[in-house]
Parts: sequence; structure tokens; C-alpha cells
Amino acid sequence: MTLINSKIHFILLAGGNSLRFSSKTNKLLAKFKNKNLLTHNIEFLKELKFKKITLIINNLKDKNINIFRDLEVIKGGETRSESVKNALYKSKFRSKYVLIHDVARPLNSQKLIKKIVKNLVEKKYDCVVPYSKCSDTAIINHNNIDREKLKLIKTPQGFIKNKLIFLHNKNNKKILTDDSQLFRNENNKFKIKYLLQNEINIKITYKDELETLNKLVENNILVGIGYDIHRIIKTNRNNLLKLGGAKIKSKVKVISHSDGDVILHAITDSILGALSLRDIGTYFPNVKKNLNRNSIDFLNYALNKMNSKKKMINNIDLMIVSEEPKINPHFKKILDSISKKLDINKNSISIKATTNEKSGLIGRGDFIACWSNISLKEN
Ligand code: ZN
Repeated sequence: MTLINSKIHFILLAGGNSLRFSSKTNKLLAKFKNKNLLTHNIEFLKELKFKKITLIINNLKDKNINIFRDLEVIKGGETRSESVKNALYKSKFRSKYVLIHDVARPLNSQKLIKKIVKNLVEKKYDCVVPYSKCSDTAIINHNNIDREKLKLIKTPQGFIKNKLIFLHNKNNKKILTDDSQLFRNENNKFKIKYLLQNEINIKITYKDELETLNKLVENNILVGIGYDIHRIIKTNRNNLLKLGGAKIKSKVKVISHSDGDVILHAITDSILGALSLRDIGTYFPNVKKNLNRNSIDFLNYALNKMNSKKKMINNIDLMIVSEEPKINPHFKKILDSISKKLDINKNSISIKATTNEKSGLIGRGDFIACWSNISLKEN
């Protein structure tokens, strides 16, 4: 397969003026999965060992094109058909087969390329066209049309090159939106293969489409860790201890500049960490203003930062180390409170508690500590 690919001419159409994209940058240089659409396509083709690649582009001086030095670059024409003709006539590459693809389609499938090549080379089709079915209701002038009969035509399309050149010559003035039309208009004179493609293969025309697509494929998970520890003292009466925003009755008392909520402090630090920010003490130092400060303020500060970066909590895993108070009797109350304060489902929160087996300062009951491990995803 890859050996055949190296002999096939691949034309990448990156002309077009992005009028409908409503952005100052060329849409082909807009980011999809951290790469622009053009780079995405080219790397994909190189992975499949295509070597005869012609890139059709309108602005040959675009500095972003320089990185693709090993490609043949040819200037596009006024229309799509003109661009294809420029590639067919001016290219130095000789080959029996040619594949033509619109760069604005970033989701290219190895499986599809394999099928197109197979139908051209082994099954001897003249023209191979991928299509998808229409699952929406389709209408013309208020009237439904039979969507079962509709084929939505995609690229890449594959052709016997000399037949494609022949048909482009014959239809010199025709404005085309794809090349298979030349074969389809010829009344069964050519062997055409329609390939049903069920994978997503959308053409990016509008900026919103790219943003939606980016969200769909985004798996950019951020993780953060937070740790906090506070001294506790034993008293003879019941105190109200704050843990995860919940008020717990206990004979021990937390010593802290703020309200000493060790869980919320650890969670806050883990969110800040996942966002590559500094620790809680940087933003809320031990100054008079923060004396007995409600830890919800710290948490909300971190949550606001998270929201402004368009992230949301994926899951959170907490480990509380405490001899006193015991966490298990208050487990549900703490879980409810954290779920509410973070506005996330309880299924995404794990609260684990352990003692320090009487060893060390925590084991002696002098301290309470909490670890928070958090992951954030795209919102
Ligand atoms: Zn703290």
C-alpha cells in the first residue's frame, strides 16, 4: 500500500479565499488539534508515504509555506477548477493515478485512502468518490426531498490521471465544486465508484465549525496536585471544624491564619497547579486582610481562573490524613459540600481518609493533612 502511495500524485487544494470563515487569518492556517489545517494534512500524507505532493496555494509568499520545502508548490487559479488544472498541467510529477483533496477537510482517514487507492489500482475504476448519507431532513422550497437518495460528496477523490486531464480540457470553462462531476456528467462512459464513508469528514467553511470540531477531538486533560497541612490542638469542648466547606463538630481545633479548611486549601492548590499558576499563599498571603478568611474565597478565586481558561473539573481524588477528627462519620456531609462548592457530580469525587498509624506528628494527632489530585478538561 505505502509503495503504491509513493507513486501516486496527490494534489492538495489550499487555494480559496476563506471569505466565509470570517477571520483575519487564512482558515488553512487556523488551528486544529494544535496544528494548522495545512500541516495536519501534509503530515498525514507523509505518514502514508505519499511523495509526489503538490500544494496549490494562492499566496506563494506566505511565510508559513516555507516549512514545506520538500513539496511542490504551485499557484492556484481564480476558481477551484483553475487551481486543479494548474496542478495537472504544471506539475513535474508523472503518475498514472491522482488524488485530489481539499485541505479544509482536516479529518482524513487512512482507511478511506486505502479504499480509494484499491479501487483505482486493483478494481480499475476511473473515478473514486467518497460520500456520506444525509441524516437531516432535506427540503427544497418547503418540500421534503427523499434524503435516502442524497449523496453528500467529499474529498479526497481518486482518478486515472490522463482521463481527468482529458475531461478538464474538454470542459475548459466549466466551474466545478469537485472533479468527479466531470466523470458523472459523461453518461456512464467512465467507471465511477462511490464509497460510502461513515466516518466524520466535514469541510471547514465557518470558524464556528472549526471551534466545534476542536472541542470534539480535544483531549487536553490538565492535572494538578495540592497538599495542605494544619496544626490542631485538643480542647475540652466541641468546636466547629471546617472540612471541605462542611462544618464538623469535634473536640479538636485547627490553628490557622484563615479558617483552616485543609481540604479546600488542597483542592484550591490543585486547581491552581493544573492551570500552571502559583500556590494559594502567593495569592492570599498571611496578611491581616486574610485573617480568619473563609476558604471559599480561595476556592472561588481558583474556580474563576479555571472558568476563564474554559476548563472544567473532570475528576478529583482526595486523601485526608487525620487521627482526629475521624473522617468516616462525616464522609457524606463532606462529599455533599464539596460537590456543591465545586458544582460537580458526586461520582467525580473520591474522598479517601487514612490515619498515620500513630506515627509522626500527624499520627500523634498534632496535625491534619490533605492531598488533592485533580484533572481538568475542556469546557
Ligand atoms: Zn491551609
